[in-house]
Amino acid sequence: MDPARSLADAQPTPFWLEDPGRPRAGSALVGDEHCDLLVVGGGYTGLWTALLAKERDPRRDVVLIEGREVGWAASGRNGGFCAASLTHGLANGLARWPEEFGRLEELGNRNLDGIEETVARHSIDCDFERSGEIDVATEPYQLDDLRASAEEAARHGVELELLDRDQVRAEVDSPTFVGGLWDRRGVAMLHPAKLAWGLRRACEELGVRVYEHTRATRLARNGSGMAVRTPYGRVFARHVALGTNVFPSLVRRVRPYIVPVYDYALVTEPLTPQQLGAIGWKNRQGLGDSANQFHYFRLTADNRVLWGGYDAVYPYGGRLDASREERPETYLKLAGHFFRCFPQLEGVRFTHSWGGAIDTCSRFSAFYGTAHDGKVAYAAGYTGLGVGATRFGADVMLDLLSGERTERTELRMVRTKPLPFPPEPLAWAGIGLTKWSLDRADRNAGRRNLWLKAMDRLGLGFDS
Ligand SMILES: Cc1cc2nc3c(=O)[nH]c(=O)nc-3n(C[C@H](O)[C@H](O)[C@H](O)COP(=O)(O)OP(=O)(O)OC[C@H]3O[C@@H](n4cnc5c(N)ncnc54)[C@H](O)[C@@H]3O)c2cc1C
Repeated sequence: MDPARSLADAQPTPFWLEDPGRPRAGSALVGDEHCDLLVVGGGYTGLWTALLAKERDPRRDVVLIEGREVGWAASGRNGGFCAASLTHGLANGLARWPEEFGRLEELGNRNLDGIEETVARHSIDCDFERSGEIDVATEPYQLDDLRASAEEAARHGVELELLDRDQVRAEVDSPTFVGGLWDRRGVAMLHPAKLAWGLRRACEELGVRVYEHTRATRLARNGSGMAVRTPYGRVFARHVALGTNVFPSLVRRVRPYIVPVYDYALVTEPLTPQQLGAIGWKNRQGLGDSANQFHYFRLTADNRVLWGGYDAVYPYGGRLDASREERPETYLKLAGHFFRCFPQLEGVRFTHSWGGAIDTCSRFSAFYGTAHDGKVAYAAGYTGLGVGATRFGADVMLDLLSGERTERTELRMVRTKPLPFPPEPLAWAGIGLTKWSLDRADRNAGRRNLWLKAMDRLGLGFDS
């Protein structure tokens, strides 16, 4: 099918945010507020921080301010793959923190269990399904890499199931699949926006005061605490937790660690039982393919296919711009790839197309820190794998603000920072060369050129 025709009626808006369950926007802060803990940002990082703060100590007075509406940004427009991994996957974790990898896996699994338990306890209706994920190989060399990953994982006590061509095609049938690696328990699928809205409700039920359309414009010391300015008011707080993700941090020195990378997704109309039968997708796992430029795909609760990824677009100067949330040339590419993967779905149409900014850092997994003598904490840099890891980031921020040493704050992953990105035009040139090299590697059986090898040695990279 002509990809353009399949996109003709697609609404340029995130499928998840169009849900009838979307709550009405809350009020903005007017005047002064006082609290123990101010959380800035109403995505998962901020919402988990507020919720966990209340669960740790119900007497703590907590305020959350959000510049627009809770869940409008990455948290409401992602793929909904909620992974246990805190390290942006096995290979990245093993390469960077081999000595504590087992511990990181254990903490990640506990974190995912904690999400599942919280969703159930607060009756958060977010279509949570712990259905796992299959990384599929579409080239023989990728299957070799998956086999090596499975063996490496087994050495660290992580059980992953290697699937040959027939086995993977028995799960989800694409003529392009030559094998796969199935993580049955380490990933859940969920409705991202409903998770954000549900967390917000849970926060409010525990007494958190949430203000929307309330952007923090200035952060400064105030006596023994902090003062934060907003358009119509001020918040005075003993502690501040920043969950502002890809947006300019109120702590300036954090900014060079993150660049925005725009990622795009499509959603189809609901598949008929015959269409679903034609691709045989019964166990509702998420899938991702294994090239550097990868796709992720999954079913929604009403059996649409969400199909995203591949292009990762860095805007010069790291400038955030709402016009970049639309990219027809990427939608055309994605639609073409979709029909190549699933020729059985010829004639299916896309109903939604959108993009969003990912907070990429050079080590692909979040970093943490404090400012203003420990009164302010931040967590950012999840690089496209933050649906699950943001809850861990929230716990780390609360640990750091408490001043206590915990099993989390002792981790090297938590104590160290990624290398910052250089200023322009170096960032543009370096990221451009890296993307070009990754594309070449994908076309050349995964072989990495000298530039990528040098980047690997420096522990630098570019991903989404
Ligand atoms: C297209 C796309 C697909 C993705 N797919 C996946 C996936 O399948 N699995 C996965 O694990 N991850 C995925 N991610 C990444 C994941 O969505 C993020 O890591 C996660 O949502 C980050 O949550 P957050 O709360 O840190 O950030 P956000 O959700 O971006 O929230 C930050 C909030 O802070 C607010 N804010 C910023 N500055 C201020 C200020 N000064 N004052 C007040 N408020 C402020 C913003 O308005 C925003 O609402 C994807 C991301 C994108 C964009």
